Amino acid sequence: MKIRIVKSGKEVHVPRDLNTETFIAEGMWEEVKETPAQQPTGEATWGLHDPDRDGMSQDSKLAVTASCSVCGTKMVFIPKPSKVALAACGMWHCGKREAIPDAIGNEFIRRGGGQPFPVFTSAGGAGVAGGGFLKDLTPKR
Ligand SMILES: [Zn+2]
Repeated sequence: MKIRIVKSGKEVHVPRDLNTETFIAEGMWEEVKETPAQQPTGEATWGLHDPDRDGMSQDSKLAVTASCSVCGTKMVFIPKPSKVALAACGMWHCGKREAIPDAIGNEFIRRGGGQPFPVFTSAGGAGVAGGGFLKDLTPKR
């Protein structure tokens, strides 16, 4: 803890123990309360990144995006399209964790989540990550 020696005005850090308590009780030292740094308190902006709509790379996948204009944190989530997988995603920023909002999560699930990225093997062929998984993810349009 931080104390101020009353007589000299000098401030030093000392262990919080019986001696310190005694000096404070005797009025020789006084505790200096340190104010914690002010935490920024931004609210994340959530959305879905749709590579079809944006005309981005064909390798792009439908993703949940989040950003905070206060702390500048940006995140992209591409979980499996399930409540459990979505619940495991969260953005830590401004000293707190924000979960994916239900409206965004439900829309992500409804649209089948993101398509797996192609996997290029040393044999030269292009496969797809999580083959069996792909069937469930194919968008139904
Ligand atoms: Zn933030």
